[in-house]
Amino acid sequence: MNQFAQRVTHLEPEGAYAVLSRAQQLKAQGKNIIHFEIGQPDFDTFPHISLAGIRAISEGKTRYNPPAGLPELRAAIASTAGQQHGITIDPEQVVIGPGAKPGLFFPTLALVNPGDEVIFPDPGFPTYPAMIDIAGGIPIPVPLLEKNHFSLDLETFDRLINPRTKLIILNSPANPTGGVIPIQDLTHIAEMAQKYHCWVMSDEIYARVTYDNRQVPSIISLPHMAEQTILVDGFSKTYAMTGWRLGYAIMPAKLAQRVELLMTHSIGCTATFTQVAGIQALLGDQSMVDKVAEEYQRRRDRVVRGLNAIPGVSCQIPQGAFYAFPNIKALGIPSRQIAQQLLDEAGVAVLPGDDFGKNGEGYLRLCYAVSIDEIDEGLKRISEFVGKLKNK
Ligand code: PMP
Repeated sequence: MNQFAQRVTHLEPEGAYAVLSRAQQLKAQGKNIIHFEIGQPDFDTFPHISLAGIRAISEGKTRYNPPAGLPELRAAIASTAGQQHGITIDPEQVVIGPGAKPGLFFPTLALVNPGDEVIFPDPGFPTYPAMIDIAGGIPIPVPLLEKNHFSLDLETFDRLINPRTKLIILNSPANPTGGVIPIQDLTHIAEMAQKYHCWVMSDEIYARVTYDNRQVPSIISLPHMAEQTILVDGFSKTYAMTGWRLGYAIMPAKLAQRVELLMTHSIGCTATFTQVAGIQALLGDQSMVDKVAEEYQRRRDRVVRGLNAIPGVSCQIPQGAFYAFPNIKALGIPSRQIAQQLLDEAGVAVLPGDDFGKNGEGYLRLCYAVSIDEIDEGLKRISEFVGKLKNK
């Protein structure tokens, strides 16, 4: 029997899960593996947040709640995000979901008709082309410029945008490159989005994981852009809450109502106690968020320095998120093969860049949300592995 709908036939697993499962197999055989593959904080959820969740369960906050989320959490997001971006956000504009992914997926379903074109970054988060496909849209990848901190190639962008473009997806700071889109580029993208009347979806899940005291600008802050922007953010990365499943999207109220209906008939609602923990995360002590970012910065510096010391490898300095995206083109071997050999022969799990689109070929992605000791050991193994390659 193979009568699956066309919309699922092209779906592929996220590369990180495939590598993780191979790495676990090797571990079961007694091999020691350094894990640079999975993109999640290695810290536990901050204790005051976990306690709020536990308290909520013990108080019986375990029932259904409105599909768009608890009014108190929607209000807390509207006020904190409004302050952060210097705009007024009404709680009606906020839709809460289990993770940031529903905030990407449901607005895409609500906006994209079959045949509509959707621009997205390549290399980029693999969920973007997957969800465009599911909606029946036409994925239009735009390359990134490595020499310019992996910002969007605006010349190509200008060539590709046209009256059929329905949606532009941005991700800053970015997975897998760590790039941040500078304000002048956002201004240009906003002008083009206004000219062509298209929506912008800005995935800002790493907005608070940034370095060198950098504030990440958001397109939603630019004049009139709140009227055509969906800002997606969440709790997974900022508060080390990946497994709680909590995220949100901010959008014009009329679109939020449609998205709420999609949520009603799919997920129903997001766990109540998870949202109570989210209120504590947003309104409680924020000092851990900055401390953790400082720690990631220390690790970033270590990883980047170590990678750049390996002949044939060159790595830009990530400006945010917790990924390094070294260029390995000079090694002359496809990135998928290098990633495979690194895992099998050196016990280092990384992702091949082409897991993130065809323009990711020639790069590897390393998540450095691991301890300094693991970083040092991983770099040592990569360096020895590359040394052997050169001597072959
Ligand atoms: N956007 C990007 C760019 C991500 O890297 C991730 C997680 N890897 C997500 C969205 C999804 O976040 P969540 O786990 O909160 O759904």
